[in-house]
Amino acid sequence: MAYRWPAGIVFTRIDLDVEERSCPICDRAMYVCDHRYHHLWTLAGPTQVVNRLVRCPDPTCGSRGQTFSPEAELSISMPRWCIGWDVLCWLGHRRFARHWSVPQLRAELQDTYHIGLSDDALASYLGRYQTILAARQQDPARLADDYRDIASLVLTIDGLQPEKGHETLYVVRELRRKRVWFAEPLLSSATGEVQRVIALARQWAERLAKPVGVWMSDKQDAFVKAIGTEFPHTPHRYCQNHFLRDVAKPVLELDSQAKVKMRHKVRGLRTIERRVLEARRRPAALEPSPTTGPPQADETPCVAIPEAVTPEAYARHDLGAGQTTHAFGTPAGVVTGPDIEDEAGEGGLGDCAVGRGILNDDQGGPLHPPGVRMSEALQEVRASLDRTLDAKKGGVPRRC
Ligand SMILES: [Zn+2]
Repeated sequence: MAYRWPAGIVFTRIDLDVEERSCPICDRAMYVCDHRYHHLWTLAGPTQVVNRLVRCPDPTCGSRGQTFSPEAELSISMPRWCIGWDVLCWLGHRRFARHWSVPQLRAELQDTYHIGLSDDALASYLGRYQTILAARQQDPARLADDYRDIASLVLTIDGLQPEKGHETLYVVRELRRKRVWFAEPLLSSATGEVQRVIALARQWAERLAKPVGVWMSDKQDAFVKAIGTEFPHTPHRYCQNHFLRDVAKPVLELDSQAKVKMRHKVRGLRTIERRVLEARRRPAALEPSPTTGPPQADETPCVAIPEAVTPEAYARHDLGAGQTTHAFGTPAGVVTGPDIEDEAGEGGLGDCAVGRGILNDDQGGPLHPPGVRMSEALQEVRASLDRTLDAKKGGVPRRC
């Protein structure tokens, strides 16, 4: 990778020699025939590695024409890389263990180590890091070592689609050691394609010489067929998560409809907030000269402001004069006064923020569906508003 070094940069020089200076064929002392310069970034700063290359002096020797390089070069970096192993590990760890973004990595490298690399260069090195990591993960010797104490394997397969419309990544995992064995991007989920992946899993299991106790998946047709063919005697079970999700599908559909209804009922939050903010601005604007200028657009006179900021009043504005329920369904009839005006406004804004948070929250799974969560949260807000209104009425507890 061609790298343009900033002008005037000062390198720390490291000189490297071959470990064995005598010729491996004729045992004569070899001589330095050339130097290879390698400039790179390490975490210690800009570094210049000077490799002294050697060759045999005897033109008739079997090693004729062969140049020997210092072995130690590879312990600092790969040839032609512009970063050392230390920088590569720094990058890889932060990217894949801590999920830093590339721009974040670039900024931190620059700020802390004064290493200037482009996003493209970083992406390229991160790709190499991934390749090295995958090779290590799939190294048969390491894998065998990891599985020495395991009696049987539990394999799973699932398709992940990183982005809609893109090819699906089929991931095979082993659950006893919690290892991702390998992943294959497939353009289609046709049985033939999937079977290739399952056959690969069989080869892995055979190489480890371990029996596969059970397969787990979401039981897509292609999985069922391919696993049935490649592992005819291995049970194939539903993944618990998928099973639950499938069973809960009708429930979640109803839940989603209920959410739409709740959203429909609880609305007008923005109008309420706007009104509170307007009501706050107005007295401040009018204070220096209370007699100048007519009342603002929606003909609300100044004297009505304390009333306009009570929760009950928002509701009447929002839902029309005939209705007496406000956004959260609290009955009307609040005694107000100027002293509680700002408190009520503040409370109103807070309630609106809470309400919006609740309406936009779509967390929750089959065991605690989002709509149920929403309903619970709205009831809590309603209870809170009821308590507030009761307190203002004189603290008489209301029956639920
Ligand atoms: Zn020789």
